[in-house]
Amino acid sequence: KTTHFGYQEVPVEEKAGRVAEVFHSVAARYDVMNDLMSGGVHRLWKRFTIELSGARPGQTILDIAGGTGDLTARFSRIVGPEGQVVLADINESMLRVGRDRLMDRGIAGNVEPVQADAQYLPFPDNTFDCITIAFGLRNVTDKDLALRSMLRVLKPGGRLLVLEFSRPQSKLLEKVYDQYSFRLLPFMGKLVADDADSYRYLAESIRMHPDQETLKQMMADAGFVDCEYHNMTGGIVALHRGIKP
Ligand code: SAM
Repeated sequence: KTTHFGYQEVPVEEKAGRVAEVFHSVAARYDVMNDLMSGGVHRLWKRFTIELSGARPGQTILDIAGGTGDLTARFSRIVGPEGQVVLADINESMLRVGRDRLMDRGIAGNVEPVQADAQYLPFPDNTFDCITIAFGLRNVTDKDLALRSMLRVLKPGGRLLVLEFSRPQSKLLEKVYDQYSFRLLPFMGKLVADDADSYRYLAESIRMHPDQETLKQMMADAGFVDCEYHNMTGGIVALHRGIKP
């Protein structure tokens, strides 16, 4: 079956039941860890992202690196039956779990899952009113390429929102956060997901990610205008916004 955009839709059939099962349990633990690690605050970060998106009924939205579909679910309700939300992720299993979740919650009607790499988005120019990438840009190898690809598929006047870990704004918070990330986080990762290494890697990848001003400049260099960011939780997370001219 081809999608609205004429691309091959991700198969929904349970291909290998066991693989899917394993992945579902990984995804479930991943969601528990999201809540645990952030003390539930990631929900507020995501709510603010939705607010700043300015999404309206009837719009077309791309949630890239959408994972299990947290933002997609919220957008799906806002854009309604006349609108469309594309849940895109590079990982097919993640996408399948996301799609199952949305269907379980009865909100898959206007959602289209597409397997896609943020660096090479497989959509026509000027397609989307809004693009979000939440906790995903950090993992993309060539961020400039990804930003330019997002710019291309946005409509003129469309918005890009990047929700990502960033740099704490005070020395004290930075110290506390370092202790938390390099001691408590791997410990919790071991306890809940039996995986300390991934959470150690997570902390390291967050430190490597461009800080607020650097990312803002990267967005401007890619061609976005009116670039700005909002620090949340003292700069542990920042929401960047840019507009396609
Ligand atoms: N956006 C979701 C959220 O906020 O809960 C999921 C974030 S999860 C930490 C990161 C996701 O990025 C994963 O699902 C991963 O498969 C995806 N990802 C990594 N590299 C990607 C790329 N180059 N293009 C698209 N998705 C990518």
